[in-house]
Amino acid sequence: MSLENQTLEHIKTALKRHPDALMTTAFNLNGIVLLDLATRAGFTGQVVFVDTGYHFLETLIVRNHLSEKYKQVQWITLNANHQQDNLWQSNTDACCAKNKVAPLKNFLEQQKPSALLNARSREQNSTRATIELREESAERIHFNPLAFWTRAELEAYAKEHQLELHPLYAQGYLSIGCAPCTKAVVVGEDARAGRWVGSTKTECGLWTKGGL
Ligand code: SF4
Repeated sequence: MSLENQTLEHIKTALKRHPDALMTTAFNLNGIVLLDLATRAGFTGQVVFVDTGYHFLETLIVRNHLSEKYKQVQWITLNANHQQDNLWQSNTDACCAKNKVAPLKNFLEQQKPSALLNARSREQNSTRATIELREESAERIHFNPLAFWTRAELEAYAKEHQLELHPLYAQGYLSIGCAPCTKAVVVGEDARAGRWVGSTKTECGLWTKGGL
């Protein structure tokens, strides 16, 4: 069975056991591919985007385009940071905790989904090199259907299925987060090497131990 079909079956099985599963996305390559695969597998649940107030304009445009294309899912935008506190200038950990992790954590505490569909893949970063297809936290199951996909396989899928990618992806933004904390990467770097450049920070805290 092809990787694509294996992944579709994996998602179908996950949704059968966890019909209340939801997915979060920041509209990176992985997230866009997962959204397409999940809807092909019958996903009609919530797609949650945390608007930290610092996203690239292009990210918001992509979100609007995708919400037009995939009308079968329920689109949720959590507007986290209306005041634009610029906390990232002094403390990126505190900024992510306040403007990214807390809003999503609060939302999940209200919704109480039994599972999340997550678009992470092992190849994205050394910190993700051991993720499994299925992981458990105290609160819920985390499905990582793309865990074993390479970037080349994700790009090939996007091309074959004519998916609209984030416009900054073609400019080297292989992982796209908030504008102040994201740079383009150069050939040979990890996809997430452009996040929080110049610091040891590699994750916003959503998917690390003690996150969600
Ligand atoms: S990525 Fe940067 S701007 Fe966005 S929440 Fe984290 S520290 Fe703040």
